[in-house]
Amino acid sequence: MPHVHTPEAEALLDHEFRVLDQGFVRLVDYMGSDERIVAAARVSYGKGTKTVRENEVLINYLMRHEHTSPLEQVVLTFHVKLPIFVARQWIRHRTARVNEISGRYSVMKDDFYLPSEETLRTQSTINKQGRDEKPVTQEAAKRIISEMEAGQREAYGRYESMLGEDLAREVARIGLPLSLYTEWYWQIDLHNLFHFLKLRLDAHAQWEIQQYAQVMAKITKAVAPMAYAAFERYQLNEVKFSQETVEWLRANVPRDRDLPLELRERLDVK
Ligand SMILES: Cc1cc2nc3c(=O)[nH]c(=O)nc-3n(C[C@H](O)[C@H](O)[C@H](O)COP(=O)(O)OP(=O)(O)OC[C@H]3O[C@@H](n4cnc5c(N)ncnc54)[C@H](O)[C@@H]3O)c2cc1C
Repeated sequence: MPHVHTPEAEALLDHEFRVLDQGFVRLVDYMGSDERIVAAARVSYGKGTKTVRENEVLINYLMRHEHTSPLEQVVLTFHVKLPIFVARQWIRHRTARVNEISGRYSVMKDDFYLPSEETLRTQSTINKQGRDEKPVTQEAAKRIISEMEAGQREAYGRYESMLGEDLAREVARIGLPLSLYTEWYWQIDLHNLFHFLKLRLDAHAQWEIQQYAQVMAKITKAVAPMAYAAFERYQLNEVKFSQETVEWLRANVPRDRDLPLELRERLDVK
């Protein structure tokens, strides 16, 4: 099979999608698409049929049964500019290959993330890690943003003056705040990218990283549209049941009903 290209993904290549105030996501390159997934899967399942509809059925089957290794045959490389506090959450996804700008080698640019007024919310009382629906007052928002900006300016001014004294860059940078933007190349296969997207598109993820995940979801959909649809169906929008809930459902859902296949399987309905 020759290189697989999708026109939708080709159109996105190299385009900088703006995220937050100064960040971006850019699809640098990709390898494979839906066709590569089915070709790899057919190594294990035999040649079989090859219509578009049957490819779709096969991809859905793979996703539903968590036969995920064919998805690993598709690889995407992103260039991302992101604040360091977002990068710290992102880097926890260990299955990617990363190359980040070096603050030891380069002078860090004066690029800091400043949240917009609308995103400033009070501390959530339900979710200890999150923010509430309730916005801070407009007056407080303006003051907080201007205080953040002043702190960033001061920190960067000190950084520059330390560099001016010929202090090594690797030491001078240690006083720079988490809102400083960094950049990296991030390469990952489709299976692990779906895992990243599931966790970071979720409402429990920090709002800022969600913004990146949303852009990357659109790019991923362009690269492998059938696989993305199957991801939405079987991973992103799935609902997990605990043992207790399954037991309750087994005891209470009428067996004579025309139940969907997945529910029949979970409830051992013949
Ligand atoms: C809403 C939210 C809140 C979070 N809060 C915190 C927090 O407060 N503190 C904190 O420290 N982290 C926090 N995290 C990070 C979280 O615990 C995970 O580290 C992160 O989401 C990456 O997930 P992962 O390990 O499944 O992904 P990956 O690292 O991409 O791993 C993918 C899969 O491979 C497996 N894997 C990868 N490497 C190994 C390995 N070496 N050994 C065994 N299995 C491996 C993983 O188990 C996983 O199934 C949070 C994440 C989210 C989404």
